[in-house]
Amino acid sequence: MCPSYMATRKEKETTRARANILREMITRSDKPNPFAHDEIKDVMDLCLGCKGCKSECPSNVDLAKLKQEWQYQYYKEKGVPLRSRLIGNFELGMRLASVAPWAYNLFGGLIKLTAGFAQGRSLPGVTSKTWKKWYLNEFKPRSSDKAVYIFIDELLNFNEPEIGISTVKLLDKLGYEVRFVNHASSGRSFLSKGLLEQAKNLAKKNVAIFKDIITPETPLVGVEPSAILTFRDEYPDLLRDEEKEAAKRIAASTFMIEEFLAKELDAGRIDINLFKEQKKLIKLHGHCQQKALSSLTPVKKILTKLGNNEVHMIASGCCGMAGSFGYEKEHFDLSMQIGELVLFPTIRKQATEVVIAAAGVSCRHQIKDGTGRRAVHPVEILLEAMI
Ligand code: SF4
Repeated sequence: MCPSYMATRKEKETTRARANILREMITRSDKPNPFAHDEIKDVMDLCLGCKGCKSECPSNVDLAKLKQEWQYQYYKEKGVPLRSRLIGNFELGMRLASVAPWAYNLFGGLIKLTAGFAQGRSLPGVTSKTWKKWYLNEFKPRSSDKAVYIFIDELLNFNEPEIGISTVKLLDKLGYEVRFVNHASSGRSFLSKGLLEQAKNLAKKNVAIFKDIITPETPLVGVEPSAILTFRDEYPDLLRDEEKEAAKRIAASTFMIEEFLAKELDAGRIDINLFKEQKKLIKLHGHCQQKALSSLTPVKKILTKLGNNEVHMIASGCCGMAGSFGYEKEHFDLSMQIGELVLFPTIRKQATEVVIAAAGVSCRHQIKDGTGRRAVHPVEILLEAMI
């Protein structure tokens, strides 16, 4: 279950060890801030925050969330390191990089050095032609009684806008009115570093923006699992009172694109005749949070029923990237070791005509770095199948 344990086989790197040390220190510490122990830091260091334990541990321990809280408390006393600030402010960094992508590419080595990233890790690509700019300047939503709001997340917006654009085009061709309102970033990068105040501020902004427009009839649909699932998993926990209730209502009508399409297919609102037979063999890698908070069943359903493809799940756990973890210089080797457990060898064995699919930006990045193969997003396969 736990990728750091699977790769190292050390008791210290298990979910159990992490939960035990937290319990010990919280109940027995004589410090005013019981979280500010370097012994906890040592045991928490290799937790990828993948949420594998949330879905697979029989006690449902959500170590990723406990780590966020621990890190927040630890930083209160010890201060926030530069790298955590840089990673937390991912959206701002990408916005600056997108102004001059050539400079970002040219100074990649220096950026890695400053940020404490491994030199062996490639940086995500950045473009000035973002998903949001495309939507605002080039897309005109149709008028339809089937409407959705699209969440333009900070990862796809800058790093892989073509996947976001494909999603909007797919929904549009299926007859949906694809609406967009200017919103804040998801806060995932702040959450991943325990910068909970900043994440909470973004959660407040997004809840205020969406609370009166997201309903079962006009749901919120997102593409990048780690971003859209913050609405379901973290926002209700970060907020209180009326904001919490509003966050819960939004969460009930928030979907990953795969979940949304599968639901619509079941309800008979998608015409399967709009898709030609593809008969592709697809090897699917699941994003950790998608597996923990959603399921791979909707992905398999839409790829098989729309396009008549054959989908095989890759029996991989975490890909090893887990947001920024795989970039960090001291974690890079372990990140690749985790990839080598199942994911990389399985992909290397596949013939070139076999399609590798993965929903997460980080997963696709890790697959590229580990195997040289490009993994596609399921919406790209579906859009290609449309007549
Ligand atoms: S979040 Fe992932 S890495 Fe961390 S303890 Fe749970 S399973 Fe292990």
